[in-house]
Amino acid sequence: MNQPVSPFHIIGNIYYVGASDIASYLIVTRHGDILLDGGFVETAPQIEANIRTLGFKLSDVKILLNSHEHLDHAGGLAELKRLTHARLVAMAQEVRTLESGKSFPAVTPDRIIHDGSTVTLGGVTLTAHLTPGHTPGCTTWTMLTKDNGKPYHVVFVGSASVLPNYKLIDRPGSPATYPGIEADYEKTFRVLKSLPCDVFLGAHGSFYSLVQKREAMSKHPAQNPFIDPAGYQAYVAHTEAAFQAELRRERQG
Ligand SMILES: [Zn+2]
Repeated sequence: MNQPVSPFHIIGNIYYVGASDIASYLIVTRHGDILLDGGFVETAPQIEANIRTLGFKLSDVKILLNSHEHLDHAGGLAELKRLTHARLVAMAQEVRTLESGKSFPAVTPDRIIHDGSTVTLGGVTLTAHLTPGHTPGCTTWTMLTKDNGKPYHVVFVGSASVLPNYKLIDRPGSPATYPGIEADYEKTFRVLKSLPCDVFLGAHGSFYSLVQKREAMSKHPAQNPFIDPAGYQAYVAHTEAAFQAELRRERQG
């Protein structure tokens, strides 16, 4: 999931600069660029090379954003921050993990945000939606982009998957992964269902069938497969079903 792949233009002002599955996005504005997600430590050099390959400058990256505080999305942030001197914007609930240096190089946010906060650069605004559960600070970013004069709602899903080692229910001797995790996931599915989505993107390419869509786009450049509202609804539905199944399993067990 961390193999080098060529970067490409997704839609409007949004470019894919990540690895084979570990996603990273460059959002280009007239006053500099926004980079969403830093990948693993080992992904950072790929992201840097991808930005250059597309003809953009690392020094034009002014803002760094993060989907969530796991090592496959936040691991490269320290290196990318050092290289670009961009300001890191982070959700309050993830700051401790980002700064701890426990599972990836420590990185200090320059701005701490909350559910509903916005980040604006060069006329482009992204909104942070706290979608916790997968991690306490997991963030789904949304923005509007224009392509061929048409506006599109873009959703970058943080993640809503339940990892195999997670415990959703708090029991004596078997504590929940963190207090309130079950209610957090429920909030997340409510939020994800409420977001208008034309263009479906996320922290992992596998969420939105990146490989297949990319291939489809190279075969039929006139149709943009990343415009996929039905795919978004299906993702939210099957991820919620997986969460509910896990919850039932824990209740029975
Ligand atoms: Zn994760």
